Amino acid sequence: MRTFLGMPATAPPGVGHLRGEEPFPAAARRALGDAQLRRNLRHATTTIRTKSGAVIGEVPDWQQLRAAGRAIKADAMARLPELLEQLEAAVAAAGGTVHWAADAAEANRIVTELVRATGADRVMKVKSMATQEIGLNEALEAAGIEPVETDLAELIVQLGHDRPSHILVPAIHRNRAEIREIFLREMPGVDPDLTDDPPALAAAARRHLRQTFLSTRVAVSGANFAIAETGTLAVVESEGNGRMCLTLPDTLITVMGIEKVIPTWDDLGVFLQLLPRASTGERMNPYTSMWTGVTPGDGPQQVHLVLLDNGRSAVLADQVGRQALHCIRCSACLNVCPVYERTGGHAYGSVYPGPIGAVLSPQLTGVADNASLPYASSLCGACYDACPVMINIPELLVHLRAQAPHPKSEAAAMAAAAYTMDHPALYAAAQRAAKLSKLSGPRGRGLPPPLSGWAASRDLPEPPSQTFRQWWAER
Ligand code: SF4
Repeated sequence: MRTFLGMPATAPPGVGHLRGEEPFPAAARRALGDAQLRRNLRHATTTIRTKSGAVIGEVPDWQQLRAAGRAIKADAMARLPELLEQLEAAVAAAGGTVHWAADAAEANRIVTELVRATGADRVMKVKSMATQEIGLNEALEAAGIEPVETDLAELIVQLGHDRPSHILVPAIHRNRAEIREIFLREMPGVDPDLTDDPPALAAAARRHLRQTFLSTRVAVSGANFAIAETGTLAVVESEGNGRMCLTLPDTLITVMGIEKVIPTWDDLGVFLQLLPRASTGERMNPYTSMWTGVTPGDGPQQVHLVLLDNGRSAVLADQVGRQALHCIRCSACLNVCPVYERTGGHAYGSVYPGPIGAVLSPQLTGVADNASLPYASSLCGACYDACPVMINIPELLVHLRAQAPHPKSEAAAMAAAAYTMDHPALYAAAQRAAKLSKLSGPRGRGLPPPLSGWAASRDLPEPPSQTFRQWWAER
């Protein structure tokens, strides 16, 4: 069965950040040459993994919670159109305005027009993967509107004219000495004697942002969850910058992927137990902000929700692939992935790095536009074990590999192998001929091209001295 919401099939090219400039293997090779990057990543992912493992170990019903999270998400995806309409009605009834964006370009246009209508030339932002996905900052800047990131790691990325490399810790590829250099270079009015002590760096960011919080009238946020039955939106964060952005301005614009909707308030309770332990390794995240439309005289008086498709309907239409829409962006799969730990997030090209990026980005863009990503994995399965909503990422990787364009030579080789296996005499001859592979030297390193490419990173197995048929015939 295929599901259609009347939206375009995939995210359009030329806008947003779902496609890299080069395939994963080329970008990964360059990243692997950066020893400092690998040290930074190893230190950060090991720390988060250890913390997260300890607090997950405290929960006796963790597996049941994971199963509950998966079931809620599967149910929500199965009746997504109905839940989105319910959400729209509830948000509108509470005084908010809902906008539907078919793709990144439409979402950027809606947000830009909403900001323009307020007369503001600056917005403050809560960390949001959806706005990074659509390239909202660039769109706002092109319209003469200054976006200010208020999450510390996002601020580091923005001031460093850099790109995020992790879902939860966008500046994970930077160590504190590098962050100090960025602040000294880019932060207006920073103390020239700033040290790289983490509290000193955080204090410098706080001083820099305070004026923004107090003087900016429009904020743009993402949302971790949206509750269809009440129209409530929720943002989960650690620094309190989100709480400031969500409560201080006159106008609040939330850009949210349509897959973030969940049916009921009770369902939220499951995810608020899963998310902090799997992501930051905390029992409870420090700030959970929830708002339902407009409360007269309290908080933003103009509340907008932009529901973003940008390829999600295409993902939903794939019965296997739609699991990727269950993701709650905890980043646990990144922190356990041996490939991510060595290459970092930039190698994936898309704003969604790591195992979830390897299955989500190709589906949002169409597999042909991110054809190398499903291969950016050893299929070890660590991501599946770590995922708090049990997304079977290895299954999705294999599913997408089958859809990726394959070289004609591969198809010819497979057809030849199938023909050989179908003809016993030919198969026996091929087995005898396999012994000639010994001529290619130890581990196949002496094979001629193009076979040498296969053997460059794999050992060619030594053929047995006797085939099964010969062994059988002897008896
Ligand atoms: S796929 Fe699972 S582990 Fe990875 S970010 Fe999403 S929810 Fe977390």
